[in-house]
Amino acid sequence: MSLWVRGGLVIDPARDFEAIADVHIVDGRIAAISESSSTSIQSDDTVIPAEGLWVVPGLVDMHVHLREPGFEYKETVASGTAAAVAGGFTAVAAMANTMPVNDCAAVTELILERARMAGLARVYPIGAVSKGLEGKELAEIGEMHRAGVVAISDDGQPIQDGALMRRALEYAAMFGLPVIAHEEDRQLGQGGVMNEGEWSFRLGLRGIPKAAEEAMVARDLAILERTGGRLHIAHISTAGAVELVRAAKRRGLPVTAEATPHHFTLTEAAVAGYNTQAKMNPPLRTEADVRAVREGLLDGTIDCVASDHAPHHEDEKRCEFDRAANGIIGLETTLALTLAMARETGWNRKRMIAALSTNPARILSVPGGTLAVGAPADLTLIDPNLKWVLHPEEVRSRSKNTPFLGWELQGRAVMTIVGGEIKWRLGERRQGETE
Ligand SMILES: [Zn+2]
Repeated sequence: MSLWVRGGLVIDPARDFEAIADVHIVDGRIAAISESSSTSIQSDDTVIPAEGLWVVPGLVDMHVHLREPGFEYKETVASGTAAAVAGGFTAVAAMANTMPVNDCAAVTELILERARMAGLARVYPIGAVSKGLEGKELAEIGEMHRAGVVAISDDGQPIQDGALMRRALEYAAMFGLPVIAHEEDRQLGQGGVMNEGEWSFRLGLRGIPKAAEEAMVARDLAILERTGGRLHIAHISTAGAVELVRAAKRRGLPVTAEATPHHFTLTEAAVAGYNTQAKMNPPLRTEADVRAVREGLLDGTIDCVASDHAPHHEDEKRCEFDRAANGIIGLETTLALTLAMARETGWNRKRMIAALSTNPARILSVPGGTLAVGAPADLTLIDPNLKWVLHPEEVRSRSKNTPFLGWELQGRAVMTIVGGEIKWRLGERRQGETE
């Protein structure tokens, strides 16, 4: 089977390549990238015209909650990967806070099996650091590594015990796995529900100080410096935390970081009116933090953009602010919000695509992130100018918890190809849908 993606602007950060070119796909792999259109197309080849589109390595989201097993009413591997391909993602890494927790090979295998059955985006399970995410005893890391996890993380729960973090870094390093850290000192946070500051005072809500994140980042960088291993900071949100990572990278520490679109798009002001759709952990911060996160992405201190896709049922958000669940869905809005930030800041598009694809693939040591000849044919075709509005009925995710409903967005994945197969095409009706 042979497929041509013709005439698009091919952007491949992994090879520092950007030019109008044709991509030839044979048997699920990239067979050639040719800048001239003199290429010989056979009559039975499939040709996808891509004039005016960006053709990039499939986007990789390294921080997603797929909720299966255990919370299928919020999301399943099938619905989550449908949202992924609709958002331009050819691969997602699935966090371990399922029920049961992904802390052993049986759960890892179940997630991989569900992903195979769905047949949409690639799914890379992330194993728990500790059994049951309880922060006490290390999970079966070697066993999960053999079953296919690409990282370990207790995400959702910070690792309060520094000695456990140290052992996690040491043990994960034996398997070449990064430890993904949710950085939050719960004692400092004191059960807060939004950023501590002007808005928490105005709204009379308990605040989480920025120090809760920064103290943990500082602790983990100190442990990393003495222990070795690889540390990846999830959803970084404060200017101080960005500066800590910047300084650590300058010293040559093996640390990487990610930022979410909501943390570089919204401020704590979004909580006004007790809007539970703006309740997240870490919370939305101040304008100065938003600016620092953007600068961190632009100067490479922050390596990638990740959605932290966190689906919740309507009832878990339609309640008083204190009791509402943390987090929002993000797979279908990440690309457009990142493009918006890039337009506002002049972020180089090749480096932006690197943050959405090449860098997360490299951090997780998974295939993808490049259009090199021989690589799996995972591609995303992007119309960077397409204006659209996020309507709830079009959301592929099983949950609709996002503050971006009704927003006018610009830029969208119009086709997502995984292993040479078209898994998403904008405008195509879903199976079973009628007019
Ligand atoms: Zn987290």
